[in-house]
Amino acid sequence: VRVRVGASTDVGRARERNEDSYLAQPPLYAVADGMGGHRAGNVASSLAVQVMSRIASGGWQMLAEQVRQANHAILERARGDRSLQGMGTTMTATYLDGNEVHLAQVGDSRAYLLRDGELRPITTDHTLVHEMVERGQITAAEAEHHPQRSILTRALGVEEPVDVDEFTVEAREGDRILLCSDGLHSMVSDEDIERVLLDVPDPQQAADRLVEMANQAGGMDNITVIVMEFEPGEGFEGATGGTAPPADATADATAPENAAGGRSDITAAMQIPQGLSATPPAPDMPSSGNGATGAGAPAEAPAAPAMPDRRGAEAAPPSPRHAEPAPRRRGGRRAIVAVVVVVAVLAAAFVGLRLYLDTRWFVGEQGGRVALFRGVPTTILGQNLFGVVDLTNIAAARAEAAPGWKARLRDGATAGSEQEARMILASLRADLAALQKQRNHQGGPPAPSPSPKASGGSGASPSP
Ligand code: MG
Repeated sequence: VRVRVGASTDVGRARERNEDSYLAQPPLYAVADGMGGHRAGNVASSLAVQVMSRIASGGWQMLAEQVRQANHAILERARGDRSLQGMGTTMTATYLDGNEVHLAQVGDSRAYLLRDGELRPITTDHTLVHEMVERGQITAAEAEHHPQRSILTRALGVEEPVDVDEFTVEAREGDRILLCSDGLHSMVSDEDIERVLLDVPDPQQAADRLVEMANQAGGMDNITVIVMEFEPGEGFEGATGGTAPPADATADATAPENAAGGRSDITAAMQIPQGLSATPPAPDMPSSGNGATGAGAPAEAPAAPAMPDRRGAEAAPPSPRHAEPAPRRRGGRRAIVAVVVVVAVLAAAFVGLRLYLDTRWFVGEQGGRVALFRGVPTTILGQNLFGVVDLTNIAAARAEAAPGWKARLRDGATAGSEQEARMILASLRADLAALQKQRNHQGGPPAPSPSPKASGGSGASPSP
């Protein structure tokens, strides 16, 4: 077969940078959608594409292994550079061997097959919503608009080993294969994608048209598209190269935070999954580039971190009249980063909370007895923010019978130090002793407590 290829990538209309990367190095074609703050996403996706470009020729058997290598390379790079920690990328890669199309897939970039006038997905998204659909928790239609639709369950740069999906498709003449980042498939319906692939004969024009449509729909994310068409003959024709690895990407990413700096990346990352990522539409990268650059070019390539487009100036955003007044606010991505950030923030909060709880004490009830606790008498999400330090031999029911103690013990009589808490205990013992003495004087039997069972096992929780 002869394969005609078109490829296009664009920053979109809402993002400052294009963090997608792609590779068109016959017979290898790949799309990677990077995530991570402050250029880290760009580093991850271009590094992944670079590693893929080193695949040995004739090596379709090595395709998945090469994806694992890319994963390893990203983890290694992030390990050596704090500013890159948490970066990741998707990877949808195809290696063409005659009419066999070998695919490797991690993440939510997609491969589709257009055959007999019909567009069918080849890959499966590694997303939370996809899993929810599989489990029957939501419908596919609900998944389309689900607020968490961009949260990935798998990506390169998260952990080792990475699980890589593999597919092989026997291409027929007339087939088209589409690779795309979610900047296309989240903005343009499968039906519209199908129509373009059916209507636009030239693969490059079809790729350009798909990017244009994603931008017209709002361009909320970076958009990358590769269209491959299989026809009679031999060889490859059309797009080659891909996005250049950003020059000295690591140095860029480690550069001191500038005016925009501070922890803005974290904020941005946390906002994105909540659909708050709609930054004002940014023009294309200022120094964006000239023609195609060879993929797999050495990292010291002199080019500016120009993302983009093989078509240079043509990559300008569509004219404003195409703009939709209210672009669909489909969630942006970097979800993995967001999850990592949220976990880190929670962990920090947790550590802070633990340090605080270590300084708090109270006297309360535990298992029907009075006890000395460290922490605060509160339970959050099933987690007790306290622990028993000393379980006394004082029955809770007896203690509650002492005037003024019932409510204090049930709510927890709080103290700022262990010493203070022990003084509370001491005063309880004194009150009980006095009460006992008083009863002994009256000569009657010990007064029954008003509700002997009420405190049984109720711990330090407030009374029902
Ligand atoms: Mg994306």
